[in-house]
Amino acid sequence: MSKELIVESANNLKKALPLMMKYSVPTTPSNYALWYHYVAEKNLALKESMDHLLASSSICPPIQAESLYREHVSSPLEAGTWEFRSTIEKMMTQLDQLVTDTHSDTNEFAQSFEKNVANISKVEEEGWSLDEVVGLLKTLEKDAKHMRSATQFFGNSLAMATKEIGNLKVQLAESRNAAMYDSLTGLFNRYAFDTELSAYLQADTKGLCLILCDIDHFKKFNDTWGHLLGDQVLKAVGRKINESMRDESTAYRFGGEEFVMLLPKTNIRIARHFAEAIRKKLEKLSLKDKRSGQVINSITASFGVVESKPDETMTDFIARADEYLYKAKSLGRNRVLPI
Ligand code: GH3
Ligand code: MG
Ligand code: MG
Repeated sequence: MSKELIVESANNLKKALPLMMKYSVPTTPSNYALWYHYVAEKNLALKESMDHLLASSSICPPIQAESLYREHVSSPLEAGTWEFRSTIEKMMTQLDQLVTDTHSDTNEFAQSFEKNVANISKVEEEGWSLDEVVGLLKTLEKDAKHMRSATQFFGNSLAMATKEIGNLKVQLAESRNAAMYDSLTGLFNRYAFDTELSAYLQADTKGLCLILCDIDHFKKFNDTWGHLLGDQVLKAVGRKINESMRDESTAYRFGGEEFVMLLPKTNIRIARHFAEAIRKKLEKLSLKDKRSGQVINSITASFGVVESKPDETMTDFIARADEYLYKAKSLGRNRVLPI
């Protein structure tokens, strides 16, 4: 690895770390990688997406950071199982040690080199003998060889680490998917939701709205049309909801026939309109039962919408949305509450 590259890496890390602190980003390997690439400014698409995300949010939402990481830094997917993370962490520690070693080698070399350079002037001033001059040259040569093998070792280890990362990427693509995504709908799952919401609430984000959505009479739907068609409905509903998301708002499958959306920097009035628009879209949804050929256009859902209060816990926040949802059900379903 060339000296320029080492200096560049160090500079990027110096730029990345304060930013990661500012946006309360956990110092995980994938986050390091993401922010490293962000400040390096070599990937313009990544830079644009990150700038956009940071302009509209006081934290860097972990799930969106993961998405950006997946899209721009690692392709195909990686990082998501503890096993993977710990392997990467081990590798980072090794590389870190390597950088430290190479750095101290470089320092040693610089010091020795300076001393020898100072000696060069003495050669003339003090009239050194030929043996002494040869001795000086040998020392210089020894230092240079040592330096070359240190950097070569560093370069080889880096190449091996890069190869290893490549292997891990492929190996863990699937397990990472399982950790954050819901396999039926392709939306983010409950785990992703919990992680993201907890980060938002810890950062005390103002104007965070939550929309809870529950498909109406879905048990009856399954009983009438069968579970398989029920699954198709969940997919279609998930797709419609996801298509409606804007900017940094995100949709998740909360569980069963329930979906949840997080809308940062949004007030309750806007969030209610947003929920109402989705309610109307779901009402218009139409599916064909391939077996009977019958068209199904009776899907509706009920919604509860809340805006976070200062210092509110995650459980209380969700419980308030659930209360509105329950009320919407008891008032006849297919509606958004509060009005
Ligand atoms: P309500 O309007 O009060 O919400 O009535 P509901 O029937 O939708 O509510 P309930 O909680 O009684 O039933 C939820 C149903 O959702 C029962 C369950 O079979 C169905 N469900 C949950 N997950 C899945 C799934 O992954 N696929 C299918 N097909 N159905 C599911
Ligand atoms: Mg339900
Ligand atoms: Mg339901």
